[in-house]
Amino acid sequence: MAAMRSMAGLGRGRLLTKTSKHMAYTDEVLQTAHVHCARHEPEIKRSQNCGCFYCKATFPSAEIEDWVDDEPRSALCPRCMIDSVVGDASGFDVTDAGFLEAMHEYWFERTIPAAKVGSYWRKQRRGAVASVLAWLGGRKSAP
Ligand SMILES: [Zn+2]
Repeated sequence: MAAMRSMAGLGRGRLLTKTSKHMAYTDEVLQTAHVHCARHEPEIKRSQNCGCFYCKATFPSAEIEDWVDDEPRSALCPRCMIDSVVGDASGFDVTDAGFLEAMHEYWFERTIPAAKVGSYWRKQRRGAVASVLAWLGGRKSAP
């Protein structure tokens, strides 16, 4: 039964996030939050605090001075100059170190292009299900 449990755990872990300390943030949450890091000038202006999920700094929105010339503009982090800033008006807890950590891991520590993430994980999920079914099939035919 130990083998069964670890295989099922593999599939489940990939539906959520990779490490247990980030279990509170699902892929869906992290993808939704990412929408709020670009073309968000009005939202940043409504925010008290902002967090950067590249360098994981938090700072008052008033500290942002540099913007990417999108329409509306996208904020650049005053600490690291990367456009990975989310304001608290987005509804996300941008001052939570765990949130910034999970976002960093999700968006910067993967090698897969963002656009492919959705289909990649769907494939991975199917693969995990198939391997569990194959394992169960193997069990049934075993003596
Ligand atoms: Zn930063």
